[in-house]
Amino acid sequence: ETRFDVARVRVDFPALHQRVYDGRPLVYLDNAATTQKPQVVIDRIRDFYTRENANVHRGVHYLSQQASDAYDEARRLVAAFIGAPDPAQVIFTRGTTESINLVAATFGRQRVRAGDEIVLSTMEHHSNIVPWQMLCEEKGARLRIVPVDARGVLDLEALERLLNERTRLVAIAHVSNALGTVNPVQEIIRIAHARGIPVLVDGAQAVQHLKVNVAELDCDFYCFSGHKVYGPTGIGVLYGKAEWLEAMPPYQGGGDMIERVTFERTTYNRLPYKFEAGTPHIAGALGLEAALIYLDRLGREAVIHYEAELLRYATQRLQEVPGLRLVGTAPEKVSVLSFVIEGIHPYDAGTLLDQMGIAVRTGHHCTQPLMDYLGLPGTIRASLALYNTREEIDVLVDALLRIQKLLR
Ligand code: PMP
Repeated sequence: ETRFDVARVRVDFPALHQRVYDGRPLVYLDNAATTQKPQVVIDRIRDFYTRENANVHRGVHYLSQQASDAYDEARRLVAAFIGAPDPAQVIFTRGTTESINLVAATFGRQRVRAGDEIVLSTMEHHSNIVPWQMLCEEKGARLRIVPVDARGVLDLEALERLLNERTRLVAIAHVSNALGTVNPVQEIIRIAHARGIPVLVDGAQAVQHLKVNVAELDCDFYCFSGHKVYGPTGIGVLYGKAEWLEAMPPYQGGGDMIERVTFERTTYNRLPYKFEAGTPHIAGALGLEAALIYLDRLGREAVIHYEAELLRYATQRLQEVPGLRLVGTAPEKVSVLSFVIEGIHPYDAGTLLDQMGIAVRTGHHCTQPLMDYLGLPGTIRASLALYNTREEIDVLVDALLRIQKLLR
């Protein structure tokens, strides 16, 4: 096992070494919202715009060839990173949100009819709810919701009962951004496939914390965002099974996604280009590639081990704060510490933490139905990344104890 030296790793992330307000060292614990970027990612983007910038798949000139090759290579690397059998099954999007919207607008529009059902869970992020809701409104279909228990664990028996001959899709988070629950997606996929139902996995909070292999999972679609896995914003991934992607109509129309255009009729390009209309976010794809290479070099096992230790430590230490209740205590969990403190509104705690240089998120975390279900106005959420330390957890706990004295 590779040794994981967090002090060395932190050197790679320039944004971590700054002070906020009147000189308070930044403690960045909002990684589920977005992660900071290692220097290799920043350099890759800068280098592209400094020397390599050209459009892809068009020009015959040197720079365009280079840019096209680099963009293809980024796709190959992403495919390898998630275990996709073929790079053509990797579609670059703007992020998880666009990946899900793409599937809803193409696969969904094509296959969902009046009276059909789409199965989601209570803990979905709004971006894995609203696109399906919009589709249901358009088609006269409806959502069915798998409940969670008090720990934030999905009720698989309820899931099984919800599936029927009207179910067109199960769309489920691999990891909950609000609770940290790791859902048993492999089991869910097995259950759904036994009934011939395809499964989309929202991996926005998973790829940075777990080893994901889409072929082993056998999922039909897998979505994630570059910016949550140490890469740039504005780039994301949709993986799909080739049979679905081939059968789906295009998403947006425009350049690059076509084979031949006449005013009478247009034929579409092969995969993955059919789903990538217009000039893509080339620098974003290269930045994402750099981020994934970086993560691989650190050693996935070492990172996973380190993060698990840190989560254990943080879970223990937070329990020293009187009146603090963790929201989300699933046995299978990563990164996320959502909590409420008796007598303190999450927003007030968040504001005071911020003044102490500690970045957390407070509120509903784009999971309003989950918060309603739990009967909470929101939570305070600290979310860990590979560069966080025990010392930072100590700073958080001390701050919470001080806030408690202040507000009580
Ligand atoms: N799903 C989950 C579980 C998320 O945590 C997020 C981001 N908070 C999204 C989807 C949406 O990702 P993005 O905003 O990058 O499109």
